[in-house]
Amino acid sequence: MDFQRLVVATGNAHKTEEIRALLGDLIPEVVDLRAHPEVGEIAETGTTFEANATLKALGAGAVLGDDVWVLADDSGLEVDALGGAPGVYSARYAGVGASDAANREKLLRELMGVDGAARGARFRCVLVLARGAEVLATFDGACEGAIADAELGDGGFGYDPLFVPEGESASFGELPAEVKNRMSHRARALAGLRRWLVAG
Ligand code: IMP
Repeated sequence: MDFQRLVVATGNAHKTEEIRALLGDLIPEVVDLRAHPEVGEIAETGTTFEANATLKALGAGAVLGDDVWVLADDSGLEVDALGGAPGVYSARYAGVGASDAANREKLLRELMGVDGAARGARFRCVLVLARGAEVLATFDGACEGAIADAELGDGGFGYDPLFVPEGESASFGELPAEVKNRMSHRARALAGLRRWLVAG
């Protein structure tokens, strides 16, 4: 599949940067909704990553029209000891509009006294590719790991300083971006999109 420009249906510059790093060789121009303020806020009223990614992709597609390729990313963290929370509510765990720091603080508080395997967790990412009102394809990816006892490093975004991926002793907040981009939930979902693009 050959297209030159992709609009990521997010205002999160960190997500866009990771997607650009992983797709830039195939798609020369990767922008996000900061370049398209006409799209406005899209309510994430779904209860699954796929539902919310679809809402974002079609919400942006409805405004941008049939000529624009849109990619939506809905992602979050599932913690075993919390029954899979914060999950789809990861961005608003400490309340609507909460900062990443407030969300991390709440997570550490909720896990006080929880040790060992119960701190197991995974990041999940669902990507929906759309054009106008049509969903073209959906991809997902997960990354297993554990929640650290305290913040480690200050790189990345969101819960990165608290997430130690399986097989590593450092968090995504400490590991270089290239390392996160080899193993993350987003990288794995994007690998599916790459295969789809190359096959198409
Ligand atoms: P969304 O915009 O509704 O998909 O929100 C996703 C939320 O999940 C973000 O605000 C982060 O808190 C968290 N999240 C998703 N992906 C990552 C990641 O790669 N690192 C750290 N946190 C992430």
